[in-house]
Amino acid sequence: MKYINEMPKQVPVLDEVDVLVVGGGPSGLAAALASAREGVSTMLLERYGCFGGVITQVGVEGFAWYRHEGTVEAGGIAFEFEEKAKSLGASTKECQSDSQALDAEMFKYVADVMIKDAGVKPLLHCYAVEAIVEDNVIKGIITESKSGRQAILAKRVIDCSGDADVAALAGAPFAKRDQLSWVTPLFHCRGVDGEKFLKYINEDLKPTYSNWKGEWSMETDGKEDDMFSPYIVKPFCNAKDDGFIQDTDTVAYGGTYSTVSPEGEVTQLNVVFMGGIDCTNVEDLTRAEIEGREAVINAIAALKKYTPGFENARLRNFGMTMGTRESRQIEGHYKMTGDDVMGEGRFEDSIGIFPEFIDGNGILWVPITGRYFQIPYRAILPKKIDNLLVAGRSISGDINAHSAFRNMSCCVVTGQGAGVAAAISVKDDVPTSKVNIKKVQEALKKQNVRVF
Ligand SMILES: Cc1cc2nc3c(=O)[nH]c(=O)nc-3n(C[C@H](O)[C@H](O)[C@H](O)COP(=O)(O)OP(=O)(O)OC[C@H]3O[C@@H](n4cnc5c(N)ncnc54)[C@H](O)[C@@H]3O)c2cc1C
Repeated sequence: MKYINEMPKQVPVLDEVDVLVVGGGPSGLAAALASAREGVSTMLLERYGCFGGVITQVGVEGFAWYRHEGTVEAGGIAFEFEEKAKSLGASTKECQSDSQALDAEMFKYVADVMIKDAGVKPLLHCYAVEAIVEDNVIKGIITESKSGRQAILAKRVIDCSGDADVAALAGAPFAKRDQLSWVTPLFHCRGVDGEKFLKYINEDLKPTYSNWKGEWSMETDGKEDDMFSPYIVKPFCNAKDDGFIQDTDTVAYGGTYSTVSPEGEVTQLNVVFMGGIDCTNVEDLTRAEIEGREAVINAIAALKKYTPGFENARLRNFGMTMGTRESRQIEGHYKMTGDDVMGEGRFEDSIGIFPEFIDGNGILWVPITGRYFQIPYRAILPKKIDNLLVAGRSISGDINAHSAFRNMSCCVVTGQGAGVAAAISVKDDVPTSKVNIKKVQEALKKQNVRVF
């Protein structure tokens, strides 16, 4: 590898805040809202032009598709996302659950409204590129944007980048598996005859979660096998049998959709999976975007030829960016495990609960039993660097725990916990490693979070 030296230069300070949240996805939105509601000055910084993360940038709308009668969960800001979206006409009934499917485009506006109402200072089109660290304490970040290189100083920083970018830049320890979960170029179609398509789904395919055991090789624990799942693999199998498309070592076809609108849109087509991509590597990302778009065009051709109702379908839009499921996991003061999420883990320093919902690493468990686990504060507290918290899919845990906490409403739980903890540590003038967890839990309860 060839290197050059950058010249040292003075960097202007754009702002100074109590709590800076980096990344405006489900966890970042929740962290910023929760922190601002605790009465401290809070900024939410995002590299793209909208908040919402994977919801708005990738197009994932199934925010709580696991929810059924008997599902027990934390509530808090996760419920608010669905309620606010519904009240602003930005959601529809989700097809397999008692939940709302968020409208990925409209949710950009929903997020703006929530941020404004809470008094969070927004900053869009701004990339966190460096951490300012003194004696293992984070003091802020350096950003890059159209305004050039700038600094934002903060008493506490919450890393909600999904990829633990800030933690990695700050020198906090993290892990990254060699074989990361597959990425997906998500897309949405228009021009579908919805009635004909749904007749095919409901009368011919009759898909259930038991179908996930086939092409996707997912293990269920049996209780969910007969439940409906919006799973479409048969058209892709037919297309492969005819040699019309083919799976390769790095691309596989077949998966799920989310909503079918009266206007002929079928959204969140999660039917292309790409392996061997590390989203923290810019060359991998470039390849994934370009090869991903080609695979989407192939998928649409297969849907048109082999799926009743899709004969006149066209691409409505690609997600703004490739959808990443997994990258860095921080090393926290506690590493969550599959046993914790599948064995009703209980922790004195819980910051919220999440139902026993596991979707990933070959396992699907839908939470219809009332079982749930607690999430310990120590899992969002990185080793080595103080006054930094990490929320969302990159908190500390093994791959089976990740298959639970990567889900969006769990990212909201860790985000809300991080926001409240950061704010209380500012108000009490103690570092995040020494925050009074009982106080954090009381404040979370006041914010309508079920903690235990
Ligand atoms: C294809 C796909 C389908 C999925 N389906 C579902 C589903 O049906 N239900 C479900 O619950 N979950 C689903 N997931 C998982 C879920 O969407 C994610 O795990 C979740 O959104 C992660 O939330 P987060 O807040 O941690 O990160 P993200 O949603 O990734 O948000 C991170 C934010 O940080 C910003 N950012 C990143 N780096 C920087 C930086 N350096 N500077 C500034 N900003 C930065 C990003 O632009 C983004 O807005 C899916 C994921 C994918 C990829």
